[in-house]
Order: sequence, then structure tokens, then C-alpha cells
Amino acid sequence: MPQATAASTQLWIDVAYLITGVCFIMGLRYMNTPKTARFGNSISIAGMTIALAATAVQLHWSQQWWIALIGVGAGAAVGIYAARAVKMTAMPQMVAIFNGCGGGAAAMVASAELLKLDPAVHAVPFDLALTSALTAIIGSISFTGSIIAFLKLQEVMTGRPITYPGQQVVNALLALVAVAGVVMVTLNIDVVPAFFAALGASLVLGVLFVLPIGGADMPVIISLLNSFTGLAAALTGFALGNNVLIISGALVGASGTLLTLMMGKAMNRSVANVLFGAFGALKTTAGGPTGTSGSGVVRESSVDDVATMLAYARNVIVVPGYGMAVAQAQHKLRELYDVLTRRGSDVRFAIHPVAGRMPGHMNVLLAEADIPYDRLMEMDDINPEFPRVDVALVIGANDVVNPAARNDRNSPIAGMPILNACDAHTVMVIKRSMSPGFAGIDNDLYYMDKTLMLFGDAKAFVASIVKELNASVPALR
Ligand code: NAP
Repeated sequence: MPQATAASTQLWIDVAYLITGVCFIMGLRYMNTPKTARFGNSISIAGMTIALAATAVQLHWSQQWWIALIGVGAGAAVGIYAARAVKMTAMPQMVAIFNGCGGGAAAMVASAELLKLDPAVHAVPFDLALTSALTAIIGSISFTGSIIAFLKLQEVMTGRPITYPGQQVVNALLALVAVAGVVMVTLNIDVVPAFFAALGASLVLGVLFVLPIGGADMPVIISLLNSFTGLAAALTGFALGNNVLIISGALVGASGTLLTLMMGKAMNRSVANVLFGAFGALKTTAGGPTGTSGSGVVRESSVDDVATMLAYARNVIVVPGYGMAVAQAQHKLRELYDVLTRRGSDVRFAIHPVAGRMPGHMNVLLAEADIPYDRLMEMDDINPEFPRVDVALVIGANDVVNPAARNDRNSPIAGMPILNACDAHTVMVIKRSMSPGFAGIDNDLYYMDKTLMLFGDAKAFVASIVKELNASVPALR
């Protein structure tokens, strides 16, 4: 290709990559709220398409391009199938495995970039050596760590923390080998063996660092590993001189880090506590299916009673939690919303940032059931409203409404912000038993005089309430 044409082609490729970067940034911006999230996704897809087209031009539609096309086709086919087939409750493990693929791909690209220079014979430039070696170790940790996260969440292996004596020492030694390997590669000392030693240590470290983390903490870890993958991708961008990889990697790295910190804050736990606290190993304190537990008395109620009370409630705040996701009760909840709204009640949904088991879990499920976005209220906005509502209907939520977070300084969740369901005039709680939630602790909310317990599967129970409201409770307004 003549030099002038090559320069102008490169200019257009750079412009295309710049547009891609802008699309990704705008996509993230629009994903900020459920209302615009689909649009955000579409802009990001457009950005990715532009990047792929620019890459095709860069490869001059050569043989390499066709190899890349096969990879893109296979990846897209798997991605489309997985995204369509995955159940909402299995979303965290899908994110984990996709993230692992990203980390693994970054590690492989960086390894190829380094090893193709034949470092046993030729000196590797400092910048390439540093970025490739760093990418390989960070990407490898993300790869194997994400696989363990996937296996835990998929229940292929135990979700409980796996701990053993000297765990931190072993991890520290592996980290040391990885860092020493990067330094040796960068200084061109025994590059090939040092590189493979660092790579091997990082692959093992990824496994060992996720093993002691409980299954329920996995979303935080996936988010952290996601930031690792972003960092690895950005470093690959430096190694390849590819701006779009640097931009998108930096975006993934930054958003993964922010999400990790935000989830920690919403649970009132430090990232160090999540990483080293083996949280799921806590002993649980389950009561019987009904009756009393701890010091208080539980008031059990029936479908007829709660349907009648709901029919007369002028305003209701629904607090969904993990149990709603397990029961897949969101569509029945939509029916309840419809019937109550038709009767003139003001029904809103209170969303706790860590309700469920992944960020945005409740938003996704309620959006799937077409519950209007403007009915979904964030914790800080809805909390002052609870004292004014007739009914707080808690569906499969436990920790996120546990007053112990506010009242008991010794509670494992002390200081965690909660939804103030306990301030409502009447509290109705749908769950199957007195079993605790993720934190493994009893919930004083269930023993309050104003609380009615409805023991049963959330989907079946909400369906019965809807049926009762439609059938026998007379229309009021
Ligand atoms: P939770 O405290 O785990 O409680 C869920 C409740 O749902 C359980 O008490 C369970 O009681 C009930 N349940 C389960 N299956 C049910 C069904 N089929 N029908 C009705 N109820 C059912 O959930 P949460 O209040 O949503 O709190 C989330 C917890 O997860 C927090 O501690 C949070 O820190 C943690 N966490 C969240 C994230 C995140 O990103 N969202 C990440 C990591 C950790 P029964 O067994 O008696 O039915």
C-alpha cells in the first residue's frame, strides 16, 4: 500500500476507534438507569461493531481477518445462545465465565506478543516486556479465579469457603513468584522460564485466592476480577499499541473497581473483609418453620387476612429480596401490582443496592416483569416514606430489612444501611421458614407486634393473594 494511503487508512482507523471509545462511554452512561439501559447497550454494540470493522480494515481483509472472523462468529454464537438461555438467577455465573474468557484472552494475546519475538535469542523492549508480563499474570489470575467463581455459583463445587492452614502464606509466595517473574522478564533475565513461572504461579493464585471466599460473596469477587480483566485488557492495548483496547480496558477496570467498592459499602464490609473474612463460614441460627425463635413470638397470618388488609391499604411499599429471585415471583408480583393499583393503592418498590445476589438483581427481575421504572425507588429516597405507608410487603428479603444493622453494634451486619420496613404501620413478610438469609443471623423484624409472617414460597403465596383479591375481596374504589 502506498505510504500516503496507509497513513490516511490509519487515520480513519484511529477515528473509528475514537468513536468506539465514545460509544462505550455513552453506553455506560445510559446504563445508569433501567429506563435507558437498553439504549446504552445498543450504543455499546454499535461501538463494538465499528471497532470490529476498523480491525478488519487494519488487517487488510487478509487471511488473518478470516481467522478473526471465525473467532468472532464462534464467540458471538456462544454469547447469543448463553444470553438467551441463561436464567436470571444464573446471571452471576454467566458474568463470571465471560469475565474469565476476557482475562484468559488478554493473557494469551500478551503471551503471543512477547513470545513471537523469540526472547530466548533477542532482547525484548522494556515497555513490551513489562506490559506483556503484567497482562499475562493479571489476566491469568482473572481467568482461573473466574472459573472457580463460576463453579461455586453453579454449585459444581461447594459454595462454602475452603480454608486451610497457611493459606495466606502460600498465596503470598505465589504472588512473589509472579512479581519476580515480571521483574526478570522486564530486565531480560531468563525471559522464557521466568515468564512461564510467573504465568503458572498466577494461574494457581487465581484458584487459591477465590477458594476461601463464600459463594454468596462471589458477586463482589466477580466485580473485582472484572476490574482485573479490564486492567489486563488496557495493558494489552499498550503492548499492541491499540487505543480502543486501552480505552475499553480502562473503562472496565474503573467500573469494576467502583462497583466492588460500592457493593462493599452497601454491605458495610471492606474489600479486605470480603477477600479474607471467609464470610459464608459463619454459623447460621435457623429457627423452626413457624412459631417462636430467639426471644420473641411470631404472628403467622393467612392469605385471606393479608389480601383483605392489602385491599384496604392506601399505600404499599414492596421490598423484594433474594427469595423473590429464587422463587421467580416477579411476574406474580406484577399481577399484584396491577390488581392493587386498579383498586387505587399507591404501590412502590424499595430497592436495596445489595438485595439479592448481584448488583441490580432486583431491578433486572422487576424490569423483566414490566413493572414501571418510576415505581422503583432507591433506598435513600424511599426510607423516609416508610412511616407513612400502611403496609410494607417484604418478599424474600431478610438482611436488607434487618433492624439489627441499626440497633445491634455486635451484629455481623452492624452499620449496613437497611430499608426501614420496620417503620411501616404493618409489615408483611413472605418467606418459607424462620431460616436466616445470607448473613446467617436472626431478624428482629419478624418478632415485632406489627409484623405478620406468611410462610410459603414467594411465587405461590403472591399468586394466592392475587387470586383472593380478584375473587373475593370486594372492589372499594
Ligand atoms: P437474604 O438476606 O439472603 O434473605 C433471603 C431470604 O429469602 C431468606 O431468608 C429465605 O428465607 C428467603 N427465601 C428463599 N427462597 C425463597 C422462596 N422460594 N420463597 C420465599 N422466600 C424465600 O436476602 P436479601 O435480604 O436480598 O439480602 C441480600 C444479602 O446478600 C445481603 O446480606 C447482602 O449483603 C448479600 N450479598 C448481596 C450481593 C449483591 O450484589 N446483591 C452480593 C453479595 C452478598 P427462607 O429460606 O425461610 O424462605
